[in-house]
Amino acid sequence: MQYQRSSKLFAEAEKVIPGGVNSPVRAFKGVGGTPIFVKSAKGAYLFDEDGNKLIDYINSWGPMILGHAHEPVIKAITERAKLGTSFGMPTELETKIAELAVSMVPNIDKIRFVNSGTEACMSAIRLARGYTKRDKIIKFAGCYHGHSDSFLIQAGSGASTFGIPNSPGVTQGTAKDTLLAHYNNLDSVRELFENNKNEIAAIIVEPVAGNMGCIPPQKGFLEGLRSLCDDNGALFIFDEVMTGFRLAKGGVQELYAVKADIVCFGKVIGGGLPVGAFAARNEIMNYLAPLGPVYQAGTLSGNPLAMAAGLAMLSELNVHASIFERLDEKTAYLENGIRKVLTQNGVVFTINRVGSMISVHFNETPVVDFETAKGGDNEMFKKFFHGLLNEGVYIAPSAYETWFITDALSYADLDFTIKAIDKVSKTL
Ligand SMILES: *Cc1c(COP(=O)(O)O)cnc(C)c1O
Repeated sequence: MQYQRSSKLFAEAEKVIPGGVNSPVRAFKGVGGTPIFVKSAKGAYLFDEDGNKLIDYINSWGPMILGHAHEPVIKAITERAKLGTSFGMPTELETKIAELAVSMVPNIDKIRFVNSGTEACMSAIRLARGYTKRDKIIKFAGCYHGHSDSFLIQAGSGASTFGIPNSPGVTQGTAKDTLLAHYNNLDSVRELFENNKNEIAAIIVEPVAGNMGCIPPQKGFLEGLRSLCDDNGALFIFDEVMTGFRLAKGGVQELYAVKADIVCFGKVIGGGLPVGAFAARNEIMNYLAPLGPVYQAGTLSGNPLAMAAGLAMLSELNVHASIFERLDEKTAYLENGIRKVLTQNGVVFTINRVGSMISVHFNETPVVDFETAKGGDNEMFKKFFHGLLNEGVYIAPSAYETWFITDALSYADLDFTIKAIDKVSKTL
């Protein structure tokens, strides 16, 4: 495939945008080469500036769960735009999407909308700190909760791709309040509680990790965290920015029947527009301004275009709940196909999957936490990535990312992908 025009556009972008991109992982630094510039997308496909057609396994990093330019979402946005694009005043639309979200997700009474997953997580820990009157939080190495200061401590995703354990610009004062534990390791959490008695406001976790590749919680891990929170008066925060409205209508709380105290959303909830949200039971949410003392605000929060897109998306997922089963079936089909061809071609690998989150790790051992995720063969991943791109299959340009499966993928697309993987894996 030819990428002359993308390369040229990238060179122009680099002159006026740091690294040529508005979010680091887009820059292809993890795999080498220059990024593809997209011109348009429809359903499961991307069409780039050089006229190539690619099967998309990123889907805007999650939001396009029903495919690109999905008609009901596009219609909702265009019709709404004619009525005005922002008011900074309440609209009925906000209540509608809030009612729907609260009805779909277990264990929440109220939800507040923000503009990104980062904002959702940042606000959730402020709320947890205000509510518990404690300062410290526990996060897990390799989990990503957006780019706010408290979370840029061993964050996954782009921060891992670039080997940035702790970003400059995060003050010592902030960093010391973020305690680091290991995913799937309850002892590491227990120890932190013992050493920081009555100081820990909350545990925040990706209940199915997706930012160090996909890593499922082992049996008892989430339940154990729940008990530790209860025993120590801390809140349990599920960062469902990736898993929410993807793994089940009610997210991981529904999937594994574990209750969180605060839940963060992003990605799917905005239907491709900039939306995040956080939600909890009344006693916690009523702590937020203007009802309570914890301040949180936003000029564009609850923006009508964003709410219209989100409402159209959630309505589809609510009415057609079979989408989640269908996504699981498609992703299982893909998993089985990949397993078969990689095994036939003698490639050493581990596949992790929960529902429509899947990742191929070039590891000999099981991938259960950040340490084991880092043990993957990165050189092999780079070859795999570029090989697939050359075949017209676009996966995330980093070994630390999950593939986001869309319902727009047909079985023919999946067969095409498996065939491409067969071909590429013979060259690894
Ligand atoms: C993407 C992501 C975020 C950050 O969301 P943005 O909208 O990119 O700010 C937070 N948490 C998780 C689990 C994510 O996957």
